Amino acid sequence: MTEPQSHQCPICGGSKVIAVGKPQVSPQAAPFVRSDYRVVMCLACRFYFVTPGISLSQQEWQRLYGDDYFEEMLPWWAEKKRRDRAWQLDWLQVHSDREVLRFLDVGCGRGEVLLEAASRGWSAYGVDISDNRTVKARGAGINFIKGNLFNASFEDGFFDSVYMNSVLEHVVDPLSLLREVKRILRTGGVLFFGVPNEDSLYNDARQLLFHLSGSGELSARLCPFKSPYHVSGFTRSSLKKALTEAGLDMARLKNFAGEYEWRRYRPFTRPFFVHFLMLPVHVLAIPMRKRLYFEVVARRND
Ligand SMILES: [Zn+2]
Repeated sequence: MTEPQSHQCPICGGSKVIAVGKPQVSPQAAPFVRSDYRVVMCLACRFYFVTPGISLSQQEWQRLYGDDYFEEMLPWWAEKKRRDRAWQLDWLQVHSDREVLRFLDVGCGRGEVLLEAASRGWSAYGVDISDNRTVKARGAGINFIKGNLFNASFEDGFFDSVYMNSVLEHVVDPLSLLREVKRILRTGGVLFFGVPNEDSLYNDARQLLFHLSGSGELSARLCPFKSPYHVSGFTRSSLKKALTEAGLDMARLKNFAGEYEWRRYRPFTRPFFVHFLMLPVHVLAIPMRKRLYFEVVARRND
């Protein structure tokens, strides 16, 4: 066990962290990424982050996130994602205290969720730093703002519901983003978001494999400078802490995924084999409540 170090946790403000390891860096990122970055974990809330604070220019981030960011999907997986989007929006309605009318998708990507919201008669707004909307999502009366959520400057309490899937793990200050979401939600309004579980058994197993293969100095948690570019790592306890600090109440928490992961990829490709061989780990993670992802519904109650 390494000695605790002093760094302020961006979620709970705690000052004691332990070093997890050096982040992996892709070849295209290597020329502009500092060599002294470390992945650390807050001892108080188990939030994973990078020290020193990441400072990359907009241009450097864009070089990291190329056009290849959206992965190819097998047909059954695309269909599963479509069904998932439908019940995720069902959740928003179930946990809202009245009918959802105004809906925002933060990090809306291709715009599939916006189309699902619009099909329910909701007034749909999307925000994203780059415009990857499909032709269909550009129509249908959907509002789109290019930029980040802060630049969009929505009025206080403007939305009944906010959706933010696979976003918080990509931002260096997720608490500020959650506070901004709270500001633009009306009282009784609801937020849905999904994040990876950094404490997953799969990550534990990968870290063990790194050690066994002589790469123990590398961190298997977070991947800030290589796809999938995760800079903030949530766990069960840091998720709860983040919501409390943002002034939101957890209405529902689901820990899921892993055992079907191998079927997501084209047969006999590297990720297919990796997840197939890891199948026992994914199955063991179920009773241990250490599966790959979290989905959360949170409500603004004040
Ligand atoms: Zn913390």
